[in-house]
Amino acid sequence: MGKIQMTTPLVEMDGDEMTRILWKMIKDELLLPYIDLKTEYYDLGLEHRNETDDKVTTESAEATLKYGVAVKCATITPNAARMTEYNLKEMWKSPNGTIRAILDGTVFRTPIVVKGIEPCVKNWEKPITLARHAYGDVYKNVEIKVPGAGKAELVFTAEDGTEIRETIHNFTDAGIIQGVHNTNKSITSFAKSCFNYALDTKQDLWFATKDTISKKYDHTFKDIFQQIYEDEYKEKFEAAGIEYFYTLIDDAVARIMKAKGGFIWACKNYDGDVMSDMVSSAFGSLAMMTSVLVSPSGVFEYEAAHGTVQRHYYKHLKGEETSTNSVATIFAWTGALRKRGELDNIPELMAFADKLEKATIQTIESGKMTKDLALITSLKDVTVLNSQNFIKAIAETMETL
Ligand code: NAP
Ligand code: MG
Repeated sequence: MGKIQMTTPLVEMDGDEMTRILWKMIKDELLLPYIDLKTEYYDLGLEHRNETDDKVTTESAEATLKYGVAVKCATITPNAARMTEYNLKEMWKSPNGTIRAILDGTVFRTPIVVKGIEPCVKNWEKPITLARHAYGDVYKNVEIKVPGAGKAELVFTAEDGTEIRETIHNFTDAGIIQGVHNTNKSITSFAKSCFNYALDTKQDLWFATKDTISKKYDHTFKDIFQQIYEDEYKEKFEAAGIEYFYTLIDDAVARIMKAKGGFIWACKNYDGDVMSDMVSSAFGSLAMMTSVLVSPSGVFEYEAAHGTVQRHYYKHLKGEETSTNSVATIFAWTGALRKRGELDNIPELMAFADKLEKATIQTIESGKMTKDLALITSLKDVTVLNSQNFIKAIAETMETL
C-alpha cells in the first residue's frame, strides 16, 4: 500500500525538552510509515528562538495564517533560571502568547476519556470542554515595579487628544502595578467561537467572570456575550435544545464540582489557563487533554495542553528511563491531520487520524500505558511502558486495526 499523500503542508512547530523527544518518536513510529508527510518546519526550540531573536515564532504564526493548520510541540517559556541554563540574549516571551496574539481566537481543551481512567470527581460522567480566550488580559500586560512613593494613573489618550484619567493608587512606598487590556473585537470573536462550538457539538455553554468586582472590564465580557447570544444565537440554541448560562466565576467553580459534565465552560484567558489544568488533572492526567486554538479567521493550531515535562527530560539526559505520556501530543497531530484532510478533501487522511486515535485508546484500554496513567487506573494487569515502548505499542495496535 502506498503512503497517504497530502496536498497542503501542515505548519510544524517543534519544541523543547521531553516533548521534543516524543515529537520525533511519534513522527518516526506513527506518522512517517503511513503518510507522505508534508510540513513546513519551524524550530521553536528555545535555542533556535534565541538564535533568531524569536523571529521564528512570529514566522510560524504567520505561516499558520497562510496555510490554515498548525501542529505545535510544547515549548519552554523562559524565566530567570532558563536565562542562565540556555544563555539567552533576552527573556523571550511565551511562544504561545506570541502565537495567540497573532492568531487571536479561542482555545478549546477536551479531556481524552478512556475506560479504566475514571475522573476523580465521581459525578463527572462526561468530558468538560474548556474554552479559553486566547487573547489579552495578563498575557499582554505591562507591569511596573514602583520604586517608592508616588501616584500611579491609568490614562487613555484618544486619537483627537482627549484623555480619560483614573488614579490607580497613591503609593506611600514601593509596590507594583499592572496594565491589562482586551478589545471588543477579540471578545466578540471569543463569544462567537464559543457559541458556534456549542452548536457544533450540541453541548450547553457556561461562561463566568468576576463582573461583580470588575464592573467595567469583566462586565464588558458578560455584556458582549449576552448581546451576541440574544441577537444571533438564542433561537438556534433553543432549536438545538441547549442552553447558554452565565454566572460568577466562584459560583461556576462550585457548580462544576456537582455537575455531570458534557458541557463547554468558557473562561477568560487566565481562568482558562488555570482551570484547564485542574479539569484535565481531575479527568486523569495533564497528558490526556486535547487542545486546539480556533481563530476567528478560521485557522487552527493543535497542541498538547501540558508543558515540556522538564523533570522527565533531565532524567532522560542522565540516561535514565522515562515513562512520559505522549497521548496529548499524538492527538495534536491527529487533530491537525484530520483538519487538513477535511479542508483539502482527503478522506484517507481523516480516516488515518481516526485510526491512530482509536489505536492509542485501545492500547491503554488493553492495559499498556505510561506510568502517570498506571498510577491512577482501575484496570488490573497493567503493563507500564517507557516513553518509546508505549509509542511502539500503539504502532503494533495500528497494525491490528
Ligand atoms: P509540565 O511540563 O506540564 O509538567 C508538570 C508535571 O506534570 C510533570 O513534571 C509531570 O509530573 C506531569 N506531566 C505533564 N505532562 C506529562 C506527560 N506528558 N506525561 C507524564 N507526566 C506529565 O509543566 P512544568 O514542568 O511546569 O513546565 C515545564 C516547561 O513547560 C516550562 O518551561 C514551561 O514554560 C513549559 N510549558 C509549556 C507549555 C506549552 O508550550 N503549551 C505549557 C505549560 C508549560 P511528574 O514529574 O510528577 O511525573
Ligand atoms: Mg497552564
